[in-house]
Amino acid sequence: MADKPKIAFYWCASCGGCEEAVVDLAEDILSVVSAVDIVLWPVAMDFKKADIEAMPDGSIAASLINGAIRTSEQEEFVRLLRKKSGAVISFGSCACTGGIPSLANQFEKERILSYVYEQAPSVINELKTRPQLESKGDEGHSLELPAFREMVRPLDEVIKVDYYLPGCPPTPKLIKEAVTALLTGKLPPAGSTLAPDTALCEECPRKDSKPADLAISEFKMPSGAVIDPEKCMLAQGFICMGPATRGGCEALCIKGNMPCTGCFGPTSRVKDQGAKMLSCVASSAAGKEDAEIDKTLAGIPDPVGTFYRYGLAKCRLRGKADRVPGKGVRQKA
Ligand code: SF4
Ligand code: SF4
Repeated sequence: MADKPKIAFYWCASCGGCEEAVVDLAEDILSVVSAVDIVLWPVAMDFKKADIEAMPDGSIAASLINGAIRTSEQEEFVRLLRKKSGAVISFGSCACTGGIPSLANQFEKERILSYVYEQAPSVINELKTRPQLESKGDEGHSLELPAFREMVRPLDEVIKVDYYLPGCPPTPKLIKEAVTALLTGKLPPAGSTLAPDTALCEECPRKDSKPADLAISEFKMPSGAVIDPEKCMLAQGFICMGPATRGGCEALCIKGNMPCTGCFGPTSRVKDQGAKMLSCVASSAAGKEDAEIDKTLAGIPDPVGTFYRYGLAKCRLRGKADRVPGKGVRQKA
């Protein structure tokens, strides 16, 4: 009997939700597991890096990698998987566009470390001790920690990616379709995103209630208002990322009476998801004077977290320009 195709799962800067999504395949997980030979899955099975290093190059049919890239260890491991794999699938928003971890790109590395190890209310650290990249263990041997990089990056800025499976996390339906396409050799051309290339609004059950002129005079937070379960979210004054976001999620959040937060990323025609949505929102304001539009936009309390919740690492502006005392403005890498 021919060998089963080898599959690897790996996680980088990740919450673990993408791993849960694989388990969410429910009984379908059994057919996946019986059709493939899983050679790496840190959340569920005990394989070591040395096991992967010992495999011939290209011998893993596909590696499904979730999470963004922040540390030297993550870079090293995904480069190893790239070498050993025929195909690499960028799995979930964090791997595809940086995801929620890339919201950290608003802050310099030093500011993050200083807060986490010195200033956070739950921290007492009078000696300002921080983890060191290298230290000596009790018996004199050297201990190493991974380096924490300046910025969070999506997977395709570190290794070549063959396919993108978007979502936070990807839905069981899309995962199943991707695995089936992989096993039957029916994958689309390399570089494809394994989800429809149309905006969410086009598959939204409320699309007929979205007026051509939204004429929004005030934005509301879902937590502080009653949401009409039939009407377009934007028409009600809730930021819904549907116009700037790829469909394929079955509009699950909308069906749960919550606005889309944009986790599927943009369609192929949109270069910058946040800028596209900001443009949509600004042009939908009821007022036409700058002051009126500014007043309407001021009702959005966290513009970066709203428009770039899952994609700050792919934002065309890259990072924040930090103003350093005495050194002027410095654009982060
Ligand atoms: S894409 Fe979402 S579910 Fe997956 S690791 Fe990132 S935050 Fe978690
Ligand atoms: S803006 Fe949101 S609620 Fe309105 S049609 Fe688009 S996806 Fe649906």
